[in-house]
Amino acid sequence: MTASHSVVVVGGGISGLVCAYALRRAGFDAVLLESSDRPGGVIRSERREGYLFEHGPQSFTATGPLLGVIREIGLEEQIVRGDPHAARFVLVQGALERAPLSPPAFFASSLFGWGTKLSVLRDLFGRSHPPAEDESIAQFIRRRFSAELLEKLVGPFVSGVYAGDPERLSLRSAFPQLHAAELAKGSLIRGMLSAAKEKKGPRERPTLLSFREGNEMLPRALAERLGDALRLKTEVTRIAKNDSSATRRFSLEVTRGGHSETLSCERLVVATPPDTAGRLLADLDPDFATQLGAIEFAAVAVVSLGYEKQHIAGDVNGFGFLVPRSAGLRILGTVWNSSLFPGRAPEGQVLMTSFLGGATDPGIASLSAAALADLAHRELAPLLQIRQQPVFSHVRVYPRALPQYNLGHSARLARLEKLRAAFPGLWFAGNYWNGPAVGACSEFGLETAAAILAGAAAPAAAEQHV
Ligand SMILES: Cc1cc2nc3c(=O)[nH]c(=O)nc-3n(C[C@H](O)[C@H](O)[C@H](O)COP(=O)(O)OP(=O)(O)OC[C@H]3O[C@@H](n4cnc5c(N)ncnc54)[C@H](O)[C@@H]3O)c2cc1C
Repeated sequence: MTASHSVVVVGGGISGLVCAYALRRAGFDAVLLESSDRPGGVIRSERREGYLFEHGPQSFTATGPLLGVIREIGLEEQIVRGDPHAARFVLVQGALERAPLSPPAFFASSLFGWGTKLSVLRDLFGRSHPPAEDESIAQFIRRRFSAELLEKLVGPFVSGVYAGDPERLSLRSAFPQLHAAELAKGSLIRGMLSAAKEKKGPRERPTLLSFREGNEMLPRALAERLGDALRLKTEVTRIAKNDSSATRRFSLEVTRGGHSETLSCERLVVATPPDTAGRLLADLDPDFATQLGAIEFAAVAVVSLGYEKQHIAGDVNGFGFLVPRSAGLRILGTVWNSSLFPGRAPEGQVLMTSFLGGATDPGIASLSAAALADLAHRELAPLLQIRQQPVFSHVRVYPRALPQYNLGHSARLARLEKLRAAFPGLWFAGNYWNGPAVGACSEFGLETAAAILAGAAAPAAAEQHV
C-alpha cells in the first residue's frame, strides 16, 4: 500500500528542516525526506584535534523569524555571538586595511579618493532613477558611485556573500533592498535610511551568531524535534502527479536502504538544490528542468587551517578579511574563527578559514585537498606574517556552493512561479529564492509553511507534532 501524507518536504537542509518543523508545529502530518545520512545540508560542524570547525557557513546573521525558532526549540542558551564591532579588513596593495563600516569612518578612510567620497555625497543629496532593465551590481556601483568603490569594497563584499561576479550578479535579485531604496527615494543612502526608520523593533547592529558546538547544533535540534517525521537516507528519485485524487495529488518514488517505495501526498515542498528539483519535476513540466537547471552556482573550496599563535606575527583579531579580485589571489576571504567565537581552537592556537574560488575561478574545484591547503597557506603567510606551516588543516570542496542571482534571475523566478501555479499543492523552498544566507533560507522556509497553512483547512486533530 502507498503511504500517504498531508505534506511531504524533500530535502533536509536548513530550508526543508525549518519548513517541516513549522508545519508539524501547526499540527500537520508532514514528513521530511533527506537523501544523506544527516540533517543540515551544507551546514556541518566538526570537532577534531581540539579544533571546532565548519564545513560550510562559518556564522549566520540572526533574523527575527529564525531567532524565534531558535528560542522555541530551546537553543537560545547555546548561542555564541560575534562582537558586532569586530574589525573587517580588505586587502589593498598587499596590506590589510580596516574596512570603513560607518559614514565617519568612510570619510576619514585613506582607502578612497575624493572622487569616491564626492560620489557618496552626490547620492545623498542628488536624485536618480534605476534603469527599467535588470542592472548588474557593477553597473549600479559605477553609475551611482565609482569604479574604485566597486573594486575596493563592493566587489570583495559581494565575493564574501555570493562568491559571485559583480559584473553578472543582478542588483535587484541579489540585493533587492538597494534597488528598492533608489526606486523609492532616488538615492541609495536616503532610501536605506528611510527603510531603517520604518523597521519595527530595536535598532541593533546585526550580530553574527553560531552555537557553542557549532552551527550544526541548529539542524540537529530541528531534527530532534521532527523525530520519526525526518527520514534520513531517503532519496526521492521521481515525482509524478496523480490526476484522480485531490488528497493524493503527488506521488513520489523513493529509495531507502536499497528498497524502493512510493509515497503520496496532498502538498509537496521541494527543498533540494535547484538542479535536483528540476530533474525531479521534469515529468510535471519539462520547463521546470530548463529553468531550475539554468541557475548557475559558484564553486568554493573551504580551507580551515590551525596555527600556533606564536608563529603569527600579524594581527588576527577581528572578523577577518576580504580580497579584491584584482589582487590576483585565489582566496576570496578569510574568517578568523578563533577570534570571532570562543572554543574554536586549542589554547595557544589560532583557527582561520579561507574561501577560495568563486564564480570567476571555477577551476578551484579540480584541485586536490593537499594542493588547496598548501595554496591557502602560501597566500596567507605573507599577509599575516605566518612563519611556520599549519599544525591543523581541513579542506572541503563544493563544486556547487552558492546559487548565483545573476542578471535575469528575477524573471526566471517569475517564470517558475507561473509554472508552479499550474500544480496546486506544489511549493518550493531553498537558497535560490530569497537569498542564500541561513537566515534568508529559514525565513523563506517559514513563509512557505505559512502559505501552506493559510491555504489549508486546520488539521482535524490539532495535535502538536513537535
Ligand atoms: C561554503 C559555504 C559557505 C557559506 N557561508 C555562509 C555564511 O557564512 N553565512 C550564511 O548565512 N550562509 C552561508 N552559506 C549559505 C547557506 O549555508 C546555504 O545557502 C544554506 O544552508 C542552504 O540550505 P538549503 O536547505 O537551501 O540547501 P542545502 O543545504 O543544499 O540542503 C539541500 C538538501 O537536499 C538534500 N537532497 C538533495 N537531493 C535530494 C533528493 N533527491 N531526495 C532527498 N533529499 C535530497 C541534500 O542532501 C541536502 O541535505 C554558505 C554556503 C556554503 C556552501
